[in-house]
Amino acid sequence: MTNLAMLRAVPFFAYPHVFAAIEADVLRIIADVGRRGAFILQRDLTLFENNLAAFLNAKHTLGVGNATDGLHFAVRAAGIGPGDEVILSSHTMIATAAAVHFAGATPVPVECGADHLVDPGAVEAAITSRTRAILPTQLNGRTCNMDALQTVAGRHGLLIIEDAAQALGSKFKGRCAGTFGIAAAISFYPAKVLGCLGDGGAVITNDEELYERMYQMRDHGRSTNGAIVSWGLNSRLDNLQAALLDIQLKKYEDVMFRRRQIAALYTGWLEDVTEIVLPPAPDSDPDHFDIYQNYEIEVEHRDELKQYLEDRGIGTLIQWGGQAIHQLKALGFTQHLPYTERLFTRLLMLPMNLSLSDDDVRYVCDSIRAFYGYPQ
Ligand SMILES: *Cc1c(COP(=O)(O)O)cnc(C)c1O
Repeated sequence: MTNLAMLRAVPFFAYPHVFAAIEADVLRIIADVGRRGAFILQRDLTLFENNLAAFLNAKHTLGVGNATDGLHFAVRAAGIGPGDEVILSSHTMIATAAAVHFAGATPVPVECGADHLVDPGAVEAAITSRTRAILPTQLNGRTCNMDALQTVAGRHGLLIIEDAAQALGSKFKGRCAGTFGIAAAISFYPAKVLGCLGDGGAVITNDEELYERMYQMRDHGRSTNGAIVSWGLNSRLDNLQAALLDIQLKKYEDVMFRRRQIAALYTGWLEDVTEIVLPPAPDSDPDHFDIYQNYEIEVEHRDELKQYLEDRGIGTLIQWGGQAIHQLKALGFTQHLPYTERLFTRLLMLPMNLSLSDDDVRYVCDSIRAFYGYPQ
């Protein structure tokens, strides 16, 4: 171990930093919300929902307990249920598939492409007479080629519901992730780009009817006048969390800027390493505005590299515990997806968060270069 390694530790994600970065705001907001007794479905939530909708250029957003619930509500509100199939990328969180499963429908995982996002060709090949919707995941803060997916959906009369849990502010052709389909969900889990101090999420829709249904679903089936008009559950975004999120949303441009800056540093210091495939650099494709929820690379000798970095105090992570959806045999999946399976032996996520200094990123890159025998 070098002296440098003993001096520097770069955790994959520093949860205390989420609080430290906004501590003064948090304490002020807790006092304010607490003194007003404004805990459930109060004006801070409405304000945040309106500001979030304006940020996304969407008609409606609704704060919910978490993105998993939000996706579930979107699927149900779209009328998808028993006998229906929904196509999704196998490179996504189990939550995407669970949202479909608990609506009584069947999640159908398919291959992703070189950009790690669902492959439109694989989507089209998986369509059957039962397929009702495509549920693309806007993975790692990058938005899918929505032109291609909308073409497929249009050709077969399918709905699009987006898992935008990782993609707040990400754009394709100038349009925000979460606004392409009939509905979408985003997550405010602490490690997400816009994280709160616990669980939280939002659904997004431009469709009035879906908005009504999801509005009721998150609050016991209550309509705007408080009358119970349908079956619902309880999955409301806490008013306190909404107040905290609203403050952070105001500084969100800076967050996206810094993440893209870190991605550019990684590109600059790693692009000559031929054993690695990097994500597209910021602005390398005018159709995409990526916000780098994760910095997911493909590497040779993945497990050895992971261990080498760990020995130098650098935390890395393999997304989804290293298994694609269709590899979760305990859940009954039977697909064989060779591209995704090979990819999952090569994937590794490097630290990507606002607690990183430029020197931290340099240290991570120098360590990777040393592992593969490149000059530092
Ligand atoms: C985090 C995440 C979810 C779930 O979000 P929660 O708010 O934790 O329910 C769903 N899909 C993807 C792709 C995610 O990254």
